[in-house]
This record gives sequence, C-alpha cells and structure tokens, in this order.
Amino acid sequence: MKVIKPGSTIGILGGGQLGRMISITGRNMGYRFVTLDPTPNSPCGQVADLQITAPYTELKAVKALADSSDVITYEFENVDSTITSILETTSFVPQGSELLKITQNRIREKSTLKSFHVPVAPFLVIQSENDIETAIDRLGLPYIMKTATGGYDGKGQWVIKSKEEIPFAMEVWNKAGIDMIIEQFIPFSKELSVIVARNIHGQTKTFPVAENDHINNILHQSFVPARITDEQRIQAESTALKIADSLQVVGLIAIEMFLTNDGEIIVNELAPRPHNSGHYSMDACITSQFEQHIRAICGMPLGDTTLLSPIIMVNILGQHLNKVLDKIDQLPPTAKLHLYGKKESVENRKMGHINFLGSTFEQIDEEIKNLGIWS
Ligand code: AMP
Repeated sequence: MKVIKPGSTIGILGGGQLGRMISITGRNMGYRFVTLDPTPNSPCGQVADLQITAPYTELKAVKALADSSDVITYEFENVDSTITSILETTSFVPQGSELLKITQNRIREKSTLKSFHVPVAPFLVIQSENDIETAIDRLGLPYIMKTATGGYDGKGQWVIKSKEEIPFAMEVWNKAGIDMIIEQFIPFSKELSVIVARNIHGQTKTFPVAENDHINNILHQSFVPARITDEQRIQAESTALKIADSLQVVGLIAIEMFLTNDGEIIVNELAPRPHNSGHYSMDACITSQFEQHIRAICGMPLGDTTLLSPIIMVNILGQHLNKVLDKIDQLPPTAKLHLYGKKESVENRKMGHINFLGSTFEQIDEEIKNLGIWS
C-alpha cells in the first residue's frame, strides 16, 4: 500500500486560502509544501516551504513543481486539464485529471450525476435562441441561466423571471460565447453541503452535514449540525457517498445540495477539493477537512470526523475585515479567527472566517449579532 509519509513534500497547484490551510495543517503533521501561483507571496506561499511564482500555464514552472513534490494536489478546480495531464505523466497526482474535467463543466457534471441516478435540477443545454424561449414551457419560470464553465459565487448566472426578460436572456447567451445551460428554479427550504473524503485505498468518510446561508450568492454562514431530520441527514450523506464512490474520488469532494420544500435532496454542484462550507471542521471536528484531504491523498487511514460542538462559521469578506479588526477584543473566547493573509481587502473577496463554537445556535447567534459586524 502506497503511503506518502510525513517528511515528504506535497505540491499544491494554486496559492489561495485553501492551499494555505492545507499547508498549515500539513506542516503540523510534518509534511513540506511547495506551491505554484502567479501572485508573489500568495496566501499559501506565505506558509509553504517554497512558492514557485509563475503562471499555471508555464510548463517550466509546472515541471519544477512536479520535480520538487512527492505528491501533487490542487486547490481550485479550474486547472487547465492539459497541465494536470502533464503532471500525471511525470509525478504522483492521486486525484487525477478526470474528476477535474467533469466538475469544470456543468453540462458534464450534471449529465454524470444523472447517469448515477443522482437527482439534479432539470436542465437543458442552450443550442439556439429558440431554446431560451421554449425553456419557459419545458422548465417553467423563473428559471436560471448558467454558464457551463468558469462560474463561481453566483458569477455567470442569471435568474429569468418573466417572458419580458427573454430578449435580455438571448442577449446574455449571444454575448457569452461559451456553452450555457438553463436550469429549473428549485424552491428550496435549505442549502446543505456534505464533504466526503475518499483515500487512495477506497476508504470513505463523510463530514457532518452543513446548512449554508448565502448572501448575494456568496456563502455567508454555515450551521453545523444542519437543522434537518435524521432521514434527511441520512439521505444527504448517502447521496454524497454514492457520488464519491461512483466517481472514484481520491481526496475530498464537496457536494452542494438543495433540500426542497418537499423534503427532497437535489444536488446542485460538486467541488473536488476542500470547501468553504467545511471550514467549521477546523475547530469543531476531531479531524479537519484539510487534515483529511492530506490523509486521503497520502494513503493514510481517514481520521474521525465526529462533531465536538455546535458551530456557526461566518465568512469575513473584504467589507467586514476592518470591523472584525476593530472588534477583535470583543470576540467571545470560544470564537476562532482565521485570516488568509491577503494583501488587498476588496469587497466580496474572502479574507477569512470565524468559527463560533457554543452550546446552542441561539446562544451563538446572539453572540454574533451582538458583535454588529455583519448587520
Ligand atoms: P451555483 O453557482 O450553482 O452554486 O449557484 C449559486 C447559488 O444560486 C446557489 O447557492 C443557490 O442559492 C442559487 N441557485 C443555483 N441554482 C439554483 C436552482 N436551480 N434553483 C434555485 N436556486 C439556485
């Protein structure tokens, strides 16, 4: 059985906050890190042993990353698949490039999920302006137009609410110049996510289900454990495990889901990496998502994911950072602050998060409200 032992070097494609948190955790475990990112002194570069500063597409730099790493992982899904294919031929990339190809494209992702009989929102691929019009009869209104590639945090998607907006929808499609889909609007009562780890030997483990609130399509806060029934929890976890096993995932996969008004679970999106909605695990689980990712790709047995305490994770965006810093002396003693070391604090940019632990959501929620940072 292949095990990449502490003392070895883990290479990370991408130098953002996810790479940073993988590195901080992994360094505690005794691993060394090298990251490739075009921005000098990236969040991950600040804590890695070495940053190679170059575009992801620069082959010489990609080769240098491969040469100095015993195992390679990535911290975002929009890695050019030709790059991962090159890496795969020269080094150990246990996550492979196949999963990236699927999750980089909504059409492939949703079609793959359908082939596993996993429920997804009904959708169509736009082939002509006529599809934009007939989608009203096929999927109802409102509907959501989404770019097949490149979208995140609600970018690359438009909600079409009435017939009057059809000319606008056609204009969006014509201008986009890339594949787009139209998705049925799902009336949901909650948004949930489940993170599953699967190691190179096929062992799997789920993290507790998170209940996620978004503001302007950006994750605002996660409540764990999610306030759902046991039956819904089992359904969410078994759907997540089915996806991880069917895709033969190695590492982590985050599965974003809707809990519909009828109590059904519908899968919205996959992310083949640690996920913002799993940051709670850093302070509330026996094993964090970052440690689990390292264990999974290094072939170690997966850690216990038991939740130790109710928790609310709240994101710190650019517009919140100064308020957090001003009120740093008022944070409750059970609040754990994580900042990502980003130089520029831009509106809606994820700068950090706080894990608020406590005995009940009511008590934690009151502590958060009393701070007056997010209101
Ligand atoms: P996505 O980029 O697909 O994760 O979508 C961003 C957010 O838009 C989701 O977290 C939901 O809040 C909302 N959304 C996306 N797709 C749908 C849908 N089919 N029905 C209702 N809301 C949606």
